[in-house]
Order: sequence, then structure tokens, then C-alpha cells
Amino acid sequence: MNQGQQKRLTELVSQPVEWQCKLSRYTSFAIGGPAEAVVQVDLFRELQPLLGFLAGEKIPWRIIGRGTNLLVPDEGFPGVILRLGGEFAAISEKEDDNDSVIVRVGGGGSFAGLSRRCSESGLTGLEFACGIPGTVGGAVIMNAGAWGSDIASVLRGVTLVTAEKEINLSSEQLDFTYRCWPGFAAYQGRAVVAAVDLVLHRGDPAAILAQCKSLLERRKATQAREHANAGSFFKNPPDDSAGRLIEASGLKGLRVGGAMVSEQHGNFLVNTGGATAADVLRLMKIVQDKVKSDCGVCLEPEVHFL
Ligand SMILES: Cc1cc2nc3c(=O)[nH]c(=O)nc-3n(C[C@H](O)[C@H](O)[C@H](O)COP(=O)(O)OP(=O)(O)OC[C@H]3O[C@@H](n4cnc5c(N)ncnc54)[C@H](O)[C@@H]3O)c2cc1C
Repeated sequence: MNQGQQKRLTELVSQPVEWQCKLSRYTSFAIGGPAEAVVQVDLFRELQPLLGFLAGEKIPWRIIGRGTNLLVPDEGFPGVILRLGGEFAAISEKEDDNDSVIVRVGGGGSFAGLSRRCSESGLTGLEFACGIPGTVGGAVIMNAGAWGSDIASVLRGVTLVTAEKEINLSSEQLDFTYRCWPGFAAYQGRAVVAAVDLVLHRGDPAAILAQCKSLLERRKATQAREHANAGSFFKNPPDDSAGRLIEASGLKGLRVGGAMVSEQHGNFLVNTGGATAADVLRLMKIVQDKVKSDCGVCLEPEVHFL
């Protein structure tokens, strides 16, 4: 960016722009080189003009959530990283028919926080999300889920913002598969998930909270927590578990540089300290090759690459 572009960028948002900011600060892996700029967008009215400026000036940009499913290259990103905060974390409720409630939440809101808040107010449908880190925007892109449920199952609509317009997609226009929103490919690089509408139901608050507590305990008991990570690294193949296959191939504890296959959970690649993205990619390849040669299964990464 030239000086004029830098000045304009700082004028377009209310939050201070971070220049040459290491993205390791913004990923749960604690890995990633610098972005030219990191911008937190707090106000709805800032987003569209900002996207218009970036498009008009042909400045590369990416949106990230909490970076909990992201591997950022060691060389960083030569452009602007957007994050959503402020108004994009707001939650509101509207009565629907019978016992259902439409919950509208901004794309920058915490997914686990939303689950907790809904559970505390006696709304059922998001118990599966307790303990899933990241934002609601990230959860929609990933079709985040657990325990046999996912965000797609409670989604009523998604609001996208592009440089030109706001696009409201209803559930009939949305197509989700396991840990993926394939339809977003049509908007990739142009749109931000600004808000989502979820349909939840009134239920028994005590039963909902008990379910959340039990799911959180199961999560704590099974997931690797000793080192920085990005959750499950690979998607589960149909009718099997990536963690089981990796463990069966004897790969738990395998290290490349600072990256390691977790000793606790085979599908967690962890940063034991000082791991680079290159370490993680080399380890990923070794795991994929070994599992493929042992049982013929190609493990597909769930983690996104910036
Ligand atoms: C300890 C741990 C446990 C986890 N457990 C689970 C689990 O049980 N189930 C599960 O599904 N996942 C799990 N994850 C993975 C991760 O938390 C989810 O995928 C989460 O939904 C990612 O959200 P995020 O905001 O961090 O997205 P990021 O990692 O920041 O981004 C993911 C993708 O979404 C895009 N994106 C993010 N926000 C937006 C937006 N507003 N608009 C457009 N695109 C956007 C990014 O560009 C990127 O392509 C876990 C991760 C960790 C670290």
C-alpha cells in the first residue's frame, strides 16, 4: 500500500489499524507471519465502504474470525486482514411461531458465547456448540458442529456484505455439507458473513444447561489441550474417525520441528512451541501419506489455509 492508501484505510475504520502485525497473535495455532495491516471493523456502516476501497484499489484482503481453524503461512499475508468486533458481536431475539425464537447474531460474535447465552435463557438447539471456539461467521463458513449436530441444522438465514451490496440468503438458498459451506465459493474473496439468523426453541433451562455441562466435560476429556492447536486437523472420513486412523498408523507423538501429532488425540496437530507453518505442512503430508499407505484413506484437511 502506498502512503495515500494507508491514510485512507485509517480513515475508513474507527479502530486503529495495526501495521505489519504478526498473525500468530490471531491464530489458535500461534503460527503465522505478518500481514501488511490488520483492521478490526466495529461498525456496520464501515464494512461496505471498506470493501469498496479495497476492491477499487485492488488491495488483497481476507477476513478471519478467531483463527481457530486456520494455518497462516510463515511469510504472512501481503494485504489487509479484516476482523469483526463491536456491532458485529451483537445478539438479538425475536419471537417466531409457537415455541420458536429467531436469534440474530453478528458474524464477529463468539459461537461458544452465543451457545452459553442461549442455553442460559432456556433456548435449545445450540447445546452442541458449547466449547467450540471461534466466531459465528467462522462457524457458518466451516459448518461447525459436534456430537452429530452442526450450525446448518439451526440456520434460518445468512447476511453477506460485499463491496456493492448486502445479500440476504434464506435457508433454502444455503447448502451445507460436513464442515463446509460449498455455496460460499461463489462469494469467496468478495463477501463477509456479517450476520446470521438461527431458529431455536424454548425448552427446559435445567435440562439444557445439564446437557451443555455434560458435553463440555466430554470435550475436556477427549481433546488435546496441552499445546496450541486448531482443533481437528483433518475431516473425518465417512463412517470413520481421522483420529482413530492416525493412531492406528502409530503416528501419535510424531514430530517435525515444533509441530507434533498430539499424544492425547491423533487428529490434533499441535504447536509444541516455535512451530512454523512449514513444520505443520510437512507433518500433515507425512500423516496423509502414512494413513493412505496403511489403509487407503486420503485424509482431507479441515483446517483452512490463508
Ligand atoms: C480446541 C479447538 C476445538 C475445536 N472444536 C471444534 C468442534 O468441536 N467442531 C468444529 O466444527 N470445529 C472445532 N474447532 C475448529 C474451529 O473452532 C471452528 O471451525 C470455528 O468455527 C472457526 O471459527 P473462527 O472464527 O476461528 O474462524 P477462522 O479460523 O478465523 O476462519 C475459518 C474460515 O472462515 C473464514 N471466515 C471467518 N469469519 C468469516 C466471516 N465473518 N465471513 C467470511 N468468512 C469468514 C476464514 O476466512 C477461514 O476461511 C475447534 C478448534 C479448536 C482450536
